[in-house]
Amino acid sequence: MITALKGMKDRYSDDVKKYDAIVDASKKVFGKYGFERIITPILEETELFRRGVGDETDVVSKEMYDFKDKGERDVTMRPEGTAGVVRAYLEAGFHKSSPIVKWFYNGPMYRYEAPQKGRMREFHQTGVEMFGVRSAYLDAEIIKMGCDFLEELGITGLVVEINSLGNVESRKKYIEDLKKFMFERLDKLSEDSQKRYEKNPLRALDSKDKGDQEEFKDAPKLYDYLDEESKKYFEDTKKYLELLGVNYVVNDKLVRGLDYYSDTVFEIKSNKLGSQATVLAGGRYDRLLEILGNAKVPGIGFAAGMERIAMLMDDSIISENEEKVYVIYFDDTKEYFVKTVNKLRKNGIKVNFDYNAKSFGAQMKKANRENAEYVLILGEEERDENVITVKKFSTGEQKKYSFEEVLEILK
Ligand code: ATP
Ligand code: MG
Repeated sequence: MITALKGMKDRYSDDVKKYDAIVDASKKVFGKYGFERIITPILEETELFRRGVGDETDVVSKEMYDFKDKGERDVTMRPEGTAGVVRAYLEAGFHKSSPIVKWFYNGPMYRYEAPQKGRMREFHQTGVEMFGVRSAYLDAEIIKMGCDFLEELGITGLVVEINSLGNVESRKKYIEDLKKFMFERLDKLSEDSQKRYEKNPLRALDSKDKGDQEEFKDAPKLYDYLDEESKKYFEDTKKYLELLGVNYVVNDKLVRGLDYYSDTVFEIKSNKLGSQATVLAGGRYDRLLEILGNAKVPGIGFAAGMERIAMLMDDSIISENEEKVYVIYFDDTKEYFVKTVNKLRKNGIKVNFDYNAKSFGAQMKKANRENAEYVLILGEEERDENVITVKKFSTGEQKKYSFEEVLEILK
């Protein structure tokens, strides 16, 4: 039998209800902050991610679903959303006409990684990007919006972690010193961190390896290297977070490890997800649009993993509170049944029934099993009088009503 590919899965039933609830929450909450939805292609030129995510990142160096299409073009199934959204912005020329744009997206992403709990090869992200504004207040507002979004979905027990990466210049000196620090204990670091020493030393800081974390305890602190402007920007961001009522902790090892990130970076983590704890992650990227399109436009955004959100959602958020209606009929009253069910649906009532009408008893049993609240009985008598017998399960009460009266009861 052919099965879904490793790290990919079919979604139905509760998974889809949760997916829809997340999309609804994104529309509602991000909409309140003035964001509009954007839909971009899943397939992009590989070069977009090489430049827009960075060759030295795990995502690009080992996780990409890249291949040649039939026209010999190098293409990649998008591993993340930001690069495509930035490309769309630049391609449409917003940076020249009206640079301030607020967009959000929902959709599948592809990364060839080792599947485990909360880590798939096909997964989904909800993300936001805002272009054209550099302001500490905005950074705080974006973080607050991320919190509002998760709160809308009833998720609790989250921690907001923030840090500042400063600007490229101040980071250069820091990276030099960090490399010196790493060099002194290189043999004690994990293989991953040893590789990062050369390519992406900053990223080693947030290694998930326990031994690394111990080694990095006394590593130089990035904050000490920030220039005055960046320090003030960070302090202002924290002040606005407080004004907005966001509880946060500063994690001086939180990095996004890419050159174009600057100043604010943040993650929202849950203590209920084991090692895949980060639900939502983002930051300010004031150089990305320059790298991708020579445009001096600042940007900020975040992406949240929808599967990780779904794992944290309580089932109550997707339970439908609607009345459950079961319709009972017989071979002789099938026409009356067909017309009645059609009219009920037209009026927005969801009904359940047996496609092969059996005995009254058998149908009642089924209605009971399916936890129906109301049973509508369409027998010969009802048909002849053009009425419906309604039985309310909770009280056992049973009475004949006209169609209009039934609608009143069910609505
Ligand atoms: P991690 O350190 O967990 O690999 P990352 O830095 O690669 O995360 P981002 O690129 O920042 O993750 O993606 C943002 C969010 O998307 C993550 O916080 C997570 O919730 C989700 N995510 C990332 N990769 C996966 C995956 N393979 N499966 C499921 N969700 C994922
Ligand atoms: Mg990853």
